[in-house]
Amino acid sequence: MTRRIILVPFDHLSFDHGAMREADPAVDIIVVVESARMTTGRPWHPQRLFFMVSAARHFAAEARERGFETHYIQAPTTLDGLREVRAMVGELPIVCAEPSSFRQLAALSAYGVEFVPNDFFLTSRGDFALWAKTQKSFVMENFYRAQRIRLNILIEDGKPAGGRWNFDADNRLPPPRNYVWPGHSSAERDEIDAEVQAQFGIDANPTWSTTRTGALRQLATFIDTHLAGFGPYEDAVARDEWAMHHSLLSPYLNVGLLHPREVVSAALDAYRRGAAPIQSVEAFVRQVIGWREYINGMYWFLGDDYRHLNELGAGRPLLPAFTDSSATEMNCVSSTVADIEQRAWVHHIPRLMILSNLALISGTSPQEFLDWMREQFVDAADWVMVPNVIGMATHADGGVLMTKPYAGGGAYLNRMTEYCGSCRFDPKKRVGDDACPMTTLYWDFLDRHRDRFARNHRMFQQLAGLRKLSDLDEVRARAAEVLDGLSAGTI
Ligand code: SF4
Repeated sequence: MTRRIILVPFDHLSFDHGAMREADPAVDIIVVVESARMTTGRPWHPQRLFFMVSAARHFAAEARERGFETHYIQAPTTLDGLREVRAMVGELPIVCAEPSSFRQLAALSAYGVEFVPNDFFLTSRGDFALWAKTQKSFVMENFYRAQRIRLNILIEDGKPAGGRWNFDADNRLPPPRNYVWPGHSSAERDEIDAEVQAQFGIDANPTWSTTRTGALRQLATFIDTHLAGFGPYEDAVARDEWAMHHSLLSPYLNVGLLHPREVVSAALDAYRRGAAPIQSVEAFVRQVIGWREYINGMYWFLGDDYRHLNELGAGRPLLPAFTDSSATEMNCVSSTVADIEQRAWVHHIPRLMILSNLALISGTSPQEFLDWMREQFVDAADWVMVPNVIGMATHADGGVLMTKPYAGGGAYLNRMTEYCGSCRFDPKKRVGDDACPMTTLYWDFLDRHRDRFARNHRMFQQLAGLRKLSDLDEVRARAAEVLDGLSAGTI
């Protein structure tokens, strides 16, 4: 048999998927490259840096234990690392699973790397494109229903389990009062973790494990302790409980330590045992076989230029509030950013309705916001963040992904979060010194883009609300003050 070099990127850490699926210690040489770009190339969040590097080093150590000749190379770039290995072992063919970003795909293709299909998702890029080409608009819910049928998940007698495709209407409860949230598992650290912490000077938060064993432990904790309660409170934000019933599985899924198939199987098994109700299981399954697959599919379908779109002409530099939790008096934003500073993670509602909403209605540059999101989150990857930020968060694609912008004022956050009660601003006010910046900027955002949004029938109600405002001039004046204050880090 021909000897091969198998390149395992930092987000393909599996012995059962990708290029490792058919690997043979007798002939294959495993290479993991820790490029300088991955460590010092960008201002990565320390918790993210620790997680990525330590998980990759654990993978390389296990490959050695499994009998593979394994090279963990530190080099300026991945290609430099591959050249170094070839200098040691000879000009062997290099095999890798299809990379997860346009940049890496182009670089490895140009170097002559051979690709095997990327099976870290349930939908191939080709199959997704076949679906997308038949759509007038790319509605996730339509894709999700097709996935349920194609994968035969939560389908009973040819119909959706529980009689409905979607239990969203049951899952919009605000944070419960006097509720004791069960905990999540803590990581067990070893000498590899200690070495990475010491090398980069990072005090690792105990939330994120760096091994498959730890990832499986978190999966078990979620299924046993949190899945049943996940659905009803999935859109709520509690002040004193950062994880609530969220799974905390996305970092593991996104680096290959868990596979979507096993995660969904575990949830379906809980449903069959009667351990979790349909509205929670359906909600979780939708995140994995719907959203996650849809976002990856759209990343590849929309192409590499999509990241540069800025249809709303938003050019404000990244607000200090995003990079420093003490740089804003907005309680929702400072609390969310403080959580990110600690763990490199918050769940989807703070990401969308607090951070992204602020970026959208303040006119923050989508590309600067994209870079920040990409660097800060432990589960961030190019394929995750480009469609989420350009399409969903900032509407910079003009409506390709989402038919209307996800803009909201303080009223929504007052209902779904516990931040407003102790904030110096009043979510109901749009003018005055104590007006909620979210509320002021929401109306100002609609006003700034009213001509564009008038062409969108889904914005009819919001524009009708705008027309009813009798104090629009005051709103505009207050919005100018708020924007100046946010840019200066004084509001
Ligand atoms: Fe955020 Fe406004 Fe609520 Fe304050 S009042 S926490 S700024 S939404």
